[in-house]
Amino acid sequence: DMEVAIKVVVVGNGAVGKSSMIQRYCKGIFTKDYKKTIGVDFLERQIVINNEDVRLMLWDTAGQEEFDAITKAYYRGAQACVLVFSTTDRESFLAIESWKEKVEAEVGDIPTVLVQNKIDLLEETVIKNEEAEGLAKRLKLRFYRASVKEDMNVNEGVFNTTSNACNQ
Ligand code: GDP
Ligand code: MG
Repeated sequence: DMEVAIKVVVVGNGAVGKSSMIQRYCKGIFTKDYKKTIGVDFLERQIVINNEDVRLMLWDTAGQEEFDAITKAYYRGAQACVLVFSTTDRESFLAIESWKEKVEAEVGDIPTVLVQNKIDLLEETVIKNEEAEGLAKRLKLRFYRASVKEDMNVNEGVFNTTSNACNQ
């Protein structure tokens, strides 16, 4: 019985909620001050697709994205990508296209989803709905609004799509 493993990279500006999202999906928890465990490159979760056991490995960074210092090793072999921006951070939204280009430059065109996180802070939004939808359309990406904090659209949305896309 061959084991299938899928490497998923989660990219976007610092503080948009990437580490929280990975932790939510793999451990089922949300903590206000998540600190990356030193020496751990990814967390994983075992799932079943079409009766097959699949290991989703979600790669995290140790904050190198803030210095634009993510190494090639981070992207190497990635089979799916989650692009994340935050409802309350316009810079993070404007940076999405450049993140997509970085991933593409390393691993080509892989299944990718766009995620607007922190939708629980919608009252403080700095991004119009039509802007976010327009970007998703232009980049031809499936788009999710999520709240890692409120556990909205992480399990049944983002990573569900990611794993299904890899299985086609
Ligand atoms: P990263 O730098 O992209 O890995 O972001 P982190 O996961 O470290 O999260 C940055 C901050 O945003 C932390 O204080 C998190 O608790 C907070 N955060 C993450 N997701 C959410 C969310 O959905 N809603 C709210 N309100 N805060 C969030
Ligand atoms: Mg992080």
